[in-house]
Amino acid sequence: MPLPPIVHAGDPVLRAVAAPVPPELFGTTRLRQLVASMTEVMRQAPGVGLAAPQIGVGLALVVLEDAEALMARLSPEERAARGRAAFPLTVIANPVLEVHGAERATFFEGCLSVPGYMALVERALDVEVTGLDELGAPVTWRVSGWPARILQHEVDHLAGTLYVDRMITRTFSANGQLQARGMAAPAGK
Ligand code: ZN
Repeated sequence: MPLPPIVHAGDPVLRAVAAPVPPELFGTTRLRQLVASMTEVMRQAPGVGLAAPQIGVGLALVVLEDAEALMARLSPEERAARGRAAFPLTVIANPVLEVHGAERATFFEGCLSVPGYMALVERALDVEVTGLDELGAPVTWRVSGWPARILQHEVDHLAGTLYVDRMITRTFSANGQLQARGMAAPAGK
């Protein structure tokens, strides 16, 4: 089965509020295939997260995964500063995000639906998400640092929000410009 293309900014699906995954869809082949497609699209991009609207499906469903290979260009200091750590494939339907504490972090962030660019975005450092897995079982995940950034980015997609709505606009940069200045482009999401 060919993989669906990633939808880019300008498509109304990225600006709509995603519908909750309905109870009858959990545990079905249809949902399993959707999760498998999203996971493959994310890995091939490569990216560290993908929301269903990014492949044109208006459902509140996200996949996230970060791997050592995707952070190989970061120095140990850069990894530590970002709180970047590998984590296994995580599937969350109908996520609800709660921010813990007032600590914030500001780093460059990109989006697979806005290819070629990135900008500084301030995000909460410590968040907790609750939702359901693909079988409909409850999921709770409390994370800080880079996984928390990915999570906030993906949950934003489900509300029709893109990072460009939150970015520090004067830092908006082409990836090549930042690479020319010795900065690694972050994996998209
Ligand atoms: Zn994105």
